[in-house]
Amino acid sequence: MAYAPYSKFTVGAALLCEDGEVVTGCNVENISYGASICAERTALVKAVSCGQIKFRAIAVTADANDGFVPPCGVCRQFIVEFSANMAVYLAKPDFSTVLVSSINSDIQQLVRDSVAARNLAYCPYSKFQVGAALITTDGETFTGCNVENIAYGGSICAERTAIVKAVSSGKQKFKAIAVATDNIKTDSFTSPCGPCRQFIVEFGSDTIVYLAKVNDLATVLVTDIKELLPLSFTDF
Ligand SMILES: [Zn+2]
Ligand SMILES: [Zn+2]
Repeated sequence: MAYAPYSKFTVGAALLCEDGEVVTGCNVENISYGASICAERTALVKAVSCGQIKFRAIAVTADANDGFVPPCGVCRQFIVEFSANMAVYLAKPDFSTVLVSSINSDIQQLVRDSVAARNLAYCPYSKFQVGAALITTDGETFTGCNVENIAYGGSICAERTAIVKAVSSGKQKFKAIAVATDNIKTDSFTSPCGPCRQFIVEFGSDTIVYLAKVNDLATVLVTDIKELLPLSFTDF
């Protein structure tokens, strides 16, 4: 619904009133830029002008290349006017892909390493080859592929292969992991399975995850382990 002909940056907001009513808003720009209004304030002024002044939470969704888009300063002032305790939820409409040519050369290499590792996959049962490349905080790379077993439960994924190689070589701090697959069936990116996510988060919740499709290496999907494994089990 956003009217954003100047910035082309569309934002949506949903405000939860104390009585459970939800009031939505979008950004509405104007050729006199200063007259433009953000999605958060659109929702707030709609709600206030309908008699609502108590709010529980606001959710904001924008499609930024990487990361979430928090409210601007003016919207923050508007939000705090009504409640200093209002919960703010930031969302992304979907995961973002980036051009491989736009990422750091060490990460480009990491993606290439994951593609190469995939060729070593031992997967006679699934025939689904996966490669992974893990880069440590000090710049060392460990690769892995999936290694299946006729006792299916004994199989190991590419991501965990790379992690166990790194850990058994004395490395436990990781910057990023790239995973390469060729999902011709759905033409979608393949993300790490649950146990691999649990393995990744064990060694740090900031690890960035790059997903690559070997049939189209121009772009990769960028996410991180926090996004892939929210509310993760990391302490007891
Ligand atoms: Zn704003
Ligand atoms: Zn896995």
